[in-house]
Amino acid sequence: MKAVLATGNLHKAQELEPLLDGLELERAPDGFDPEETGTTLLQNAFIKAWALRDMIPDTPWVIADDTGLSVSALGGRPGVYSARYSGPDATYESNNRLLLTELDGVDDRRAAFVCVLVALSSGGEQRIGCGVLPGRIATEPSGDHGFGYDPVFIIDGVGRTMAEMTPDEKNAMSHRGRAARMLNRAMSEAA
Ligand code: IMP
Repeated sequence: MKAVLATGNLHKAQELEPLLDGLELERAPDGFDPEETGTTLLQNAFIKAWALRDMIPDTPWVIADDTGLSVSALGGRPGVYSARYSGPDATYESNNRLLLTELDGVDDRRAAFVCVLVALSSGGEQRIGCGVLPGRIATEPSGDHGFGYDPVFIIDGVGRTMAEMTPDEKNAMSHRGRAARMLNRAMSEAA
């Protein structure tokens, strides 16, 4: 069955593609970048999914995700604002720098990634997957794999940052992998 992914982020698309079962995946048209005005991950995932649904109403499924990093010592920030944490021109590096600066000298390094996936069918059905990955923030960046906050995030029980894990190791444990497995189950029950 054909499905189109509502993401312009190449890294996320590359991670998601092998995780979603039984779907012939395509990526959203170039330039697809709806404004994420929601105040929750679920709202933003729906905003992206609905925007793509409007563009390609006959495609069997559209799938959108939204992810946030929630840091305990920061009261759950940056959360839904993870992409723009260090400002409108934020880069992965500037976000990681700000995070390490805010946590400088802070003992409580607990954090979690949360990923929400939403699938909408051309017939009006909707399916949702959600994955949570507990971990902690390192004191300095390390590793070259992955993207975003991977160089500063250490999964509980794994003594390395996510950027030091291979893509297969990350996918087996990640928030996105967990959300995708839940969505796969929901989609197969729908079939
Ligand atoms: P988005 O809104 O779903 O694009 O994700 C928000 C931000 O979270 C991204 O810009 C990344 O910085 C970060 N992010 C999302 N997924 C991951 C991940 O798997 N590893 C590290 N950072 C991530």
